[in-house]
Amino acid sequence: MDKINEIINRVFRTNEGYKYILNLISKRYPTLKINEENLKKIDIEKMDLEYHLKTSFFGEYVAERNTIKIYFGDKNEKISDMEIIETFTHELIHLLTSTYDKDGTLLQGFNMRDKEKGDSFFIGINEGITQMMTEEVLDITNSTAYPFHTNIARKLSIIIGEEELIQAYSKHDIDAFVAKLFEIDNNLDVRSFIIKSYFLHLVTMGYDISDAIGLGTEIEDLLNNLYINSKKENDEEYFKLLIDQNDVDVMAKHVPDKIMSSSRFLYYGIIKDKDKIKNIIKRRRQNGRK
Ligand SMILES: [Zn+2]
Repeated sequence: MDKINEIINRVFRTNEGYKYILNLISKRYPTLKINEENLKKIDIEKMDLEYHLKTSFFGEYVAERNTIKIYFGDKNEKISDMEIIETFTHELIHLLTSTYDKDGTLLQGFNMRDKEKGDSFFIGINEGITQMMTEEVLDITNSTAYPFHTNIARKLSIIIGEEELIQAYSKHDIDAFVAKLFEIDNNLDVRSFIIKSYFLHLVTMGYDISDAIGLGTEIEDLLNNLYINSKKENDEEYFKLLIDQNDVDVMAKHVPDKIMSSSRFLYYGIIKDKDKIKNIIKRRRQNGRK
C-alpha cells in the first residue's frame, strides 16, 4: 500500500493516501453502501508483466484475499501516476462493494461469482457501472478502460436515475434493477438485454463470438427506446452518449489489438446519423405527450 499511498499523496498533494480516494468516493456517492469489513486490511500486490499481457488487465481485485493487484508498468510500457490511481480506484470500488453470501458466492455490485460456474451475466453491466463511478470520482474524461461498458452504464444512469442505480448496485439488488427496467418498459425483453450486454462484454474481452455483429447496435436501440419510455428529459446529457460508427472506431482503439476488429463488429449497422436518432427520440416523446 505504501507505493499507492505515495502516488496518491504526490498527485493530490495530500498526506491521506488511499483514504483521500475513499473520501472522494463517499463525497460523490454519499448513499453508496460499502462493506466496511473489507477496509480493515487491504493488501496491494504488484501484477507481473506476464499476467498483464496474458489478461490485458491493469488491475484486479482478488476477493478471496482482499487484495488489489496493480500493474505498475515496465520499461517498455510506461503507466502514468493518474492511470495507476484510476486502476486503483476502480478496484477499490469493487472491494467496497464485494461480499460473500452464505453459500460462498461472491456478490460484487450486480455481479455474482459462483465458485464453480464463474461470473454471472451481469458482469458487463457491473464493470460499466464501476468504471463510470471511477471516472466520476476522479473527474476523468479521457479514460481508455471499458469504453463500451461505461457508455451503457451512463445511459442506464440517466434512464433509471443515478441514485437508484447506484443504490441497487451497492446492495447487489438485481431484482430492483430488473423491476425498474420493467416499470419503464413492460414489453422489454430484460433477459435478452442482460445476455446481449454479457456477450458484448465477452467480445470486448477478446472472446470470439459468432453472433457479435450488430450486438452493440441492438443494445443501443434498446437503451434509446428505454430512454424514450423513461419520460426523463435529460436530452442534452443523453444525446452526448449516442454512439455512431466514428465513436466506435475511437472506442475500439482502446481495446487490445487482437480484439479491435471484433469490437468494431459490435456496432455494425448502426444508424450513422446521430441527428436522425435525436429527432426520432424527440418526435416519439412529443407523440407520447399527446
Ligand atoms: Zn472491474
